[in-house]
Amino acid sequence: MSRDIERALTQFFGGRVCLDFGNTLDWRTSEQPQELIPNFEALLGWCERRHTMPFAALSKLRARAAGKPQEAEAVMAATVRLREEIWRLSEALRTGGKISIERVNALTKALPSQPRLIAEGADYVFDLPGRELEEVLWPILWSTTALLTSHDAARIGMCHGEGCGWFFVDESPNRSRLWCSSEVCGNRERARRSYAKRKRAAGGQAM
Ligand SMILES: [Zn+2]
Repeated sequence: MSRDIERALTQFFGGRVCLDFGNTLDWRTSEQPQELIPNFEALLGWCERRHTMPFAALSKLRARAAGKPQEAEAVMAATVRLREEIWRLSEALRTGGKISIERVNALTKALPSQPRLIAEGADYVFDLPGRELEEVLWPILWSTTALLTSHDAARIGMCHGEGCGWFFVDESPNRSRLWCSSEVCGNRERARRSYAKRKRAAGGQAM
């Protein structure tokens, strides 16, 4: 298993902030998952590329984190827990299982109300101030509640690529999306299957 980490960090196939955040563990369902956000700096980089917050706020948080390594570590622990919660919810939604919303409710209860939106480049982002390191998690949580309260909740899919484990909102008309990306996992799986088929055919001839 290998997917270039730098490349994986720019691949947003989930279609929603919360799912793309859930996909920051690459090869999630394989035996060798690859962590794409190993520390707070990497998390900030992800927020910047996915543009979940104003760039100015992210710069402030970068400066603040440099002087508060313990606070950054605590936010990373919360980050990992939130990601696991998003996996649990996505997995339950995808398989039609019962979801438990207590944890999401507890997490959102501790948040301030959503700030106004601002336009930045081609995107709209929550106008967060960049005062507290944990702000990075707020747009992800708001995205999670938006997903749960929309028809997206009934359209969660997971890539069929072996070991990939990336989630997405399946927006195909008949819900037939198989891959996080046809170019990435789709091509790889097609190549793998055709190789296995050739190998089987060759084995058959040898016998
Ligand atoms: Zn995939």
